[in-house]
Amino acid sequence: MTNQSIPAFTIFGPPGCGKGTQAAVIKERLEYLHVSTGDIFRAALAKGDPAALQAKELMERGELVPDETIRDMLVGQLKAILEESSGAKGLILDGFPRTLGQAGMLEDILKQLNLRFTGCVSLKVDEEELVQRLIKRAEIEKRPDDTEEVIRERMRVYQEKTQPLENYFAEKNQLIEVEGLGTIDEVYGRLAPIINRW
Ligand code: AMP
Repeated sequence: MTNQSIPAFTIFGPPGCGKGTQAAVIKERLEYLHVSTGDIFRAALAKGDPAALQAKELMERGELVPDETIRDMLVGQLKAILEESSGAKGLILDGFPRTLGQAGMLEDILKQLNLRFTGCVSLKVDEEELVQRLIKRAEIEKRPDDTEEVIRERMRVYQEKTQPLENYFAEKNQLIEVEGLGTIDEVYGRLAPIINRW
């Protein structure tokens, strides 16, 4: 299979909606590649990458880092991962795009890499449930960007900058809404038939 036929979708939803968890399960069970811009950014920071260090404060405040910074990191990582894994069934983009500017970059990025965009899967989760999940995750993972104040800011940024992408994809007939409440297996059970059609 060449890259040309590899389907790529973005998994979308507010912080704490479980998209990272579902992406990991899809990776494992459906042999998809999983690329998370949050993970890429944290790895770049750990390596002391100058562009990442410059944007570190933004992340720590719960803000988004600049579109171009994320795009360059993402393209670099995608190229490397696609070269390594020729047998992958598809690609999950987790955490990208997160702004309308990034959505505009998406087509170009996928074209460069010969990937076929199949849509934006949006996980719908109740907000109260989300806040509880994030507080729990902050306790377990001790992420520096997961204090209560920062969690609130990330939610606000999500509503302002990322939520509008739902309309963007809906207008292009590329939005697939999925109920995100339930156990990992329940949510996966809703996602798998959609992904398997691609
Ligand atoms: P995440 O692990 O996806 O919650 O990402 C953690 C942080 O990395 C975010 O709060 C942003 O500061 C930054 N980040 C990750 N992905 C993006 C993106 N696509 N655009 C801008 N900033 C991002």
